[in-house]
Amino acid sequence: MSIITLLGITAFLGITPFVVLRFAQGNIVAGIVDILILTCIAGGMFYAWISGDTRRVGFVMAWVVCFGAVAAGAVGNADFFWIYPCLMVSFFLVGPRAAVLVSLSAILTAMTIRSDGFQSLDHLWSFFTTTVMTCFCAYVFAFRNEYHRKNLELLATVDPLTGVKNRRAMNEGLQMALADALRTKRFYGLIMMDLDHFKRVNDDYGHGVGDEVLLDLVSLVQKRIRNTDQLYRYGGEEFVVLLSGVDANGLELIAQNLHQIVRQQLRCRGNKVTASFGAALLRFNESPEAWLERADAALYKAKNSGRDRIVFADTMPESGTRSPAASPVLAD
Ligand code: GH3
Ligand code: MG
Ligand code: MG
Repeated sequence: MSIITLLGITAFLGITPFVVLRFAQGNIVAGIVDILILTCIAGGMFYAWISGDTRRVGFVMAWVVCFGAVAAGAVGNADFFWIYPCLMVSFFLVGPRAAVLVSLSAILTAMTIRSDGFQSLDHLWSFFTTTVMTCFCAYVFAFRNEYHRKNLELLATVDPLTGVKNRRAMNEGLQMALADALRTKRFYGLIMMDLDHFKRVNDDYGHGVGDEVLLDLVSLVQKRIRNTDQLYRYGGEEFVVLLSGVDANGLELIAQNLHQIVRQQLRCRGNKVTASFGAALLRFNESPEAWLERADAALYKAKNSGRDRIVFADTMPESGTRSPAASPVLAD
């Protein structure tokens, strides 16, 4: 959004004096072309502000600025000076590949429609070489930028040990689930799980073995959930599974499935490792914090009532959810 706004303002400051100049020189067509370009840019900026759809606006604006520069050159004296900044701008507005497509289309169009505007073949090829070199440099810059951005995003959202998404990504995932639930009325469920007495694993076998158990747990869970579900590392030996399109029965089934698979298959040097689970369905208009808090309270209850079990928040009494005396809702 800030790029679109910045480029919009820059375009206004750069192009407006030329509009005045064109009309003063009596070149009405060129003046009108400039006004059309400014109108499209203003329209795009306004649409991006109200809709937040910067992707589509960026794409349209890239075509508008590049072909606007071609049109301005064609109706003027065929000096395509504006095309240079516009080619660069297209790499700010869309991804590197799309920008190459837009740029090359604009360059070839400029060469075709006003080949007579170039003084000689030399001039024409100079134009081609300099514009393509501009695009090449912009492409390399944009490609490196995108590569670094993706790397940073990965570092910020993925847990380095297990490779699953981290708590920061989970917060975003919960927000998106909430927005989707409000829009589509789809059900969402949350399962929070925590390994039982995991400290002992570290104490008895060392941190490295503990790490292996965490990796095994992740692998077991990932095999059991659908592609549309998401596993997050909430912290330490605590994980969250976000499930989309599940009702109470579905949530119960998946939680039981995960509970059983951990119980039957998670081992540390031949010893059983178990986990406790707290599950909660997303309620209408509930905040992510409240939803997570209910799952956490259910997990707390599972721990307090003996571990190695599941507690469902939705069948827990509203008050006293943290009472150790309360019996587990589902335990075996
Ligand atoms: P409870 O059943 O109540 O959950 O007991 P617990 O021992 O699992 O829980 P506690 O919170 O006392 O200890 C959690 C342990 O998890 C302590 C910490 O060293 C370990 N842990 C946290 N992150 C990692 C990790 O990345 N690798 C390893 N190996 N251990 C970790
Ligand atoms: Mg634990
Ligand atoms: Mg814990």
